[in-house]
Amino acid sequence: MTSTLDNPAADAYFETAHTDLFIGGQWVEGAAGNRIEVVNPSDATVITAVADGTVDDGIRAVDAAAAALAGWSATPPRRRAEILRRCFELITERADTLAHLISLENGKALADARGEVAYAAEFFRWYSEEAVRTTGSISTAPSGTNRIVVQHQPIGVCVLVTPWNFPAAMATRKIAPALAAGCTTILKPATLTPLTAYAIAAILAEAGVPDGVVNVVTTRSTGPVVSAMLHDPRVRLLSFTGSTEVGRTLLRESADQVLKCAMELGGNAPLIVLDDADLDVALDGAMVAKMRNGGQACTAANRILVHRSLHDTFVERLAQRMQTLVVGAGTDEATQCGPLVDAKSVAKVTELVDDAVERGGRIVVGGQVPNRDGFFYPPTVLADVPAAASISREEIFGPVAAIVPFDTDDEAITAANSTEYGLSAYVFSRDLARALAVAERLESGMVAINRGLVSDPAAPFGGVKQSGLGREGAQEGLLEYTETQYIAVDW
Ligand code: NAD
Repeated sequence: MTSTLDNPAADAYFETAHTDLFIGGQWVEGAAGNRIEVVNPSDATVITAVADGTVDDGIRAVDAAAAALAGWSATPPRRRAEILRRCFELITERADTLAHLISLENGKALADARGEVAYAAEFFRWYSEEAVRTTGSISTAPSGTNRIVVQHQPIGVCVLVTPWNFPAAMATRKIAPALAAGCTTILKPATLTPLTAYAIAAILAEAGVPDGVVNVVTTRSTGPVVSAMLHDPRVRLLSFTGSTEVGRTLLRESADQVLKCAMELGGNAPLIVLDDADLDVALDGAMVAKMRNGGQACTAANRILVHRSLHDTFVERLAQRMQTLVVGAGTDEATQCGPLVDAKSVAKVTELVDDAVERGGRIVVGGQVPNRDGFFYPPTVLADVPAAASISREEIFGPVAAIVPFDTDDEAITAANSTEYGLSAYVFSRDLARALAVAERLESGMVAINRGLVSDPAAPFGGVKQSGLGREGAQEGLLEYTETQYIAVDW
């Protein structure tokens, strides 16, 4: 594999990049010997090919994780913390190379990729600090006859399934708390972006994570391989990040072994600009909330609800900003908006925009697929989007800002809540009390006020309604990987 970075250290890295399965601390080709091509979305060329794991490979990874469990869960928390801290340091040292790799296989702009690497690394730092803060309690039973001892035990072997849109951070957001809790893991990364997962696995091994504690299996037979692992009685937890549709399937699969499930699913975030908002702050926030990762984020502002008194100015100024974004290959330093991840994504965004226009929406800028190699869709602003348009209900997952006017706070809140999703929401207002009152009425796991970014490893990330179950990040994220055990003790 070659690098397009003008950097000898990166070249050396790419020459030794891993493309085989990582099981029990070994790089193995996979039982069937098949390969999966990895494509650069910026020009549709094949970068390399990775191993195509089979059901047997998946079970071998469970064997390795199960074998490593007793040793890792008994490793003192301080030692686990030190290894996690080393993971943070090594990822941070290699940040630029990892960012380049992410841009190469995912297409996102380097600035976005660098932001992702910093965010991904931070989960190791945060959970290195949490690993030694184990919680539990002792209390006296109301009857006075005994004490109630409550402790949190590592749940065991965990299957982690992640999407392509944040190939580093979605993996580390699961691996770091799992390891801090004393669990062992099998990561099944998205087929579109496997290289980052393998690069991270190699770094974790170098940082001292013992063999078998983290295993990585890529596969084209996603359904059967994940299903086989979820039906193995040694597996105790599934942590999934991806679409609500696949999440529902995996919840059903998990029912057979009554697995604990953490589900980070799709979103349809409203971004509400109240009539007293600072317009510059709202525009800055909207650009971040909409355009981070070229709109391919579960937290992306999907419906931008703007008070009628600000609507026309907001549309005009957002259009100016969107129009001037530099669109290009993810790996070009100048790029601000890279391609979408694949041709299917371009077709989906095109369909959503066309449907909105047919129903009365108006394209202010963008809206035309450019004639160039790669999977590009231009930054687009759509105004007067009708509530009946599919774009109001479905995740856009592209650089399209769909703007809808409203007249009252109640109307905005009702519109914001009229979706089965409830992941993130954004509110802009100069009056904090008013913004908080609106935030509390939003059916959303996370609300950002006067800012376009919610994600933080120290905060509980997750959704309500059909956006998911459980939280990642913060202490709650660690508790997901534990079982509560209560011991009644005669003192
Ligand atoms: P996806 O659901 O298609 O795939 C996610 C993962 O599940 C991939 O690894 C995929 O290979 C695997 N998968 C697909 N079908 C499967 C099956 N039948 N059995 C087992 N595994 C299967 O999602 P995607 O397209 O990779 O990612 C985009 C979606 O992820 C969006 O809906 C986005 O909102 C969501 N997402 C959510 C969060 C969050 O934290 N809530 C974060 C990022 C992305």
